[in-house]
Amino acid sequence: MSLQTNLKLSLDEGLQACLDTLETLLPEMIEIRRHLHQYPELSHREVETPKLIAKFYRDLGIDVRTEVGGRGVVATFRVENPVKAIAFRADFDALPIQDAKEVPYKSKNLGVSHACGHDGHTAALLGFAKSLVENKERIRHNVVLIHQFGEELYPGGAMAMIEDGCLEGVDAIYGCHLQSMMPSGTMYYREGYIQAAVDTFEIKVNGKGGHGAVPHEAVDPIVVASHIVTALQTIVSRSTDPLEQLVVSVGSIHAGDANNVIPGEAVMTGTIRSYAPETRKMAREKLANIASGVADALGARAEANLESGYDALWNHKAETAVVKNAMEVIFDEGNVLETPPVMPGEDFSYYTQKVPGSIFFAGACPKGGPYPHHHAKFDFDEKAMLSTAKTFMAILHQY
Ligand code: MN
Repeated sequence: MSLQTNLKLSLDEGLQACLDTLETLLPEMIEIRRHLHQYPELSHREVETPKLIAKFYRDLGIDVRTEVGGRGVVATFRVENPVKAIAFRADFDALPIQDAKEVPYKSKNLGVSHACGHDGHTAALLGFAKSLVENKERIRHNVVLIHQFGEELYPGGAMAMIEDGCLEGVDAIYGCHLQSMMPSGTMYYREGYIQAAVDTFEIKVNGKGGHGAVPHEAVDPIVVASHIVTALQTIVSRSTDPLEQLVVSVGSIHAGDANNVIPGEAVMTGTIRSYAPETRKMAREKLANIASGVADALGARAEANLESGYDALWNHKAETAVVKNAMEVIFDEGNVLETPPVMPGEDFSYYTQKVPGSIFFAGACPKGGPYPHHHAKFDFDEKAMLSTAKTFMAILHQY
């Protein structure tokens, strides 16, 4: 037997031992997850969650830095003579949604719930960290464990944490998002764009108020707003390359209070989702031009205010290959799949702008059927936390 084969065999045994450890840690991951689920905290207001995370690392004897970029926690697992430094990121914020599930671990914080699975991301990363400690002699790399605050609410926590040095010395970064709508046990990778850029807009239409029975002496902002909404549909259908992805959605229109009064103003808000920077730029410009141009033609004035959200998330080629290989080493072939890109935004995009990396998805459809992310009854199959932690471990063993 050649030296090469010996080396591969011993590595595989090392990985297997680490995976076995993770199996034993699933009950603890579930316990942590259910605790976090009962005490969710809103984006940029997290207090107890980062405390719990930091304590977990101190108890493990792992170096931990708190208040990174504000409320972030970064722990570094160190080995002697490390080959690489590989980072793994989990977000830990919750949403302003009242938990409508009837489960023993239902949220105890009124109007707040972990309706996106960030509690699961956190518990999976903590379980992974503990398995590193229990397999210290089998690990050859430093591992940077990034616990991020504020993912759900722009400007997010990623940019501030990067600014505060969370990626210093990091060679590559990985992350995972649980997916309630994808079958539990399936795992998903994707090279290139995987999550969209997010922009939000508000359009204010100023007309001229008047009596509902005397429209010719008024400028009706409701009619103008309606034409703007219709014209906005051409951004996707007539101005975008059919092979590019773009969404322009108006989510709210507010105007008027009475049936016989023409109001003076209408206000609408919405969102733009895109991938390619040129498409994003085009959509933003067209939106502003259509709003003002249509209003102008109808004798009103309209102004569009655009706010930028997260950039589109790009998964690097080599690191995505690492993810795919890692999944194929530990899961059945039929359960390792390529995901199409999805439109929700994710500030993991800022990490992969700085260092190469790749985010992947873990199918987590619960028994009894799924509710989508951000739904009041959202839940996930907790076994997906184990699949996540195992994939992290297999990724680390690819280096
Ligand atoms: Mn999320």
